Amino acid sequence: MLKITRSSLLYKSRVEYADYCINHIEGCSHGCRFPCYAMMMKKRCGVIKNYNDWIKPKIVSNALELLDREIPKLKNKIKVVHLCFTSDPFMYNQPEVSSLTLKIIEKLNKAGIRCTVLTKGVYPKELADVSKYSVNNEYAITLVSLDSNFKNTFEPGAAPYKQRIESLKHLHDKGLRTWISMEPYPTPNLVGQNLLKILNEIKFVDKIIFGKLNYNVRVSEFLDNKDFYDRCANIVVNFCNQNKIGYHIKYGTAREDNKKTEKILKKISVSDKLEIYNLTQTSLNV
Ligand code: SF4
Repeated sequence: MLKITRSSLLYKSRVEYADYCINHIEGCSHGCRFPCYAMMMKKRCGVIKNYNDWIKPKIVSNALELLDREIPKLKNKIKVVHLCFTSDPFMYNQPEVSSLTLKIIEKLNKAGIRCTVLTKGVYPKELADVSKYSVNNEYAITLVSLDSNFKNTFEPGAAPYKQRIESLKHLHDKGLRTWISMEPYPTPNLVGQNLLKILNEIKFVDKIIFGKLNYNVRVSEFLDNKDFYDRCANIVVNFCNQNKIGYHIKYGTAREDNKKTEKILKKISVSDKLEIYNLTQTSLNV
């Protein structure tokens, strides 16, 4: 695997549900074609040239040394560290990434810092070992469908849905807190599916975060998309209330607050919109 070094690792997040974050990998072999917001940002900043650059991940080889320096300085300020916003900490079929992630979680937990982790990969079973990893960590998977054709088109390098769910269920059964990021949830012109059927597969979790798909031209082709997301948000809220599951509907998903999302979409350049459109068209073979 390719390697890079960085001068710092822990940083304060501006994301609504996170505190501090770590991104110890650059790029992601999952190669999501929603498209991936992190990829778009890295491209805009000139860090990568294109999609092919993005799907060749580079590991931060000095990550553990950086943590040894940064943890003592920051540990009184940190409530929780999230892994990761701009890559995937348990990238499917990337053992070097998983191994480094486990060492990072262990180091943070030893310093009394708990972690939240989000992946489209598979959780190693050893995370249930509470002599090494904190019982206060939270583990999540992204799950927006159960349709393998949809996964192969939109999340080509990510783990099959069944494996993701099983690995999360294992951690839940061991008494750990688990949640689902159901975002970006696709519109029916991208995949026809029953939201309740997906929710029933993951009703063991403690929390569900639900959000719409923002950066895909084909969403706006689905003219009923605002009503659709409003209906979906209601289904998620009712399901969570009935099953005593916590939930968070991302800002811009329910009808009353989707104006802000429209403003964000207006800020995306025409060339980026075209690239998103081309990526999606190519991946759908239309
Ligand atoms: S898993 Fe996340 S970081 Fe990786 S390509 Fe998909 S959206 Fe991007």
